[in-house]
Amino acid sequence: MASQSDAFCHLCNDTMDSGEDVQQHLLNEHQPPELAEELATLWESEEHGNPE
Ligand SMILES: [Zn+2]
Repeated sequence: MASQSDAFCHLCNDTMDSGEDVQQHLLNEHQPPELAEELATLWESEEHGNPE
């Protein structure tokens, strides 16, 4: 099934629930907000689907 790409939090090492915004999760769960925004931007710029 094609759905929107899952957001993944590298700090929690967990995937967000469907419809949950990783940026919102970062802001809620990880402080300070400046760090959360920086991480979100970094992750979004990376290619996903590249398991180690
Ligand atoms: Zn997290």
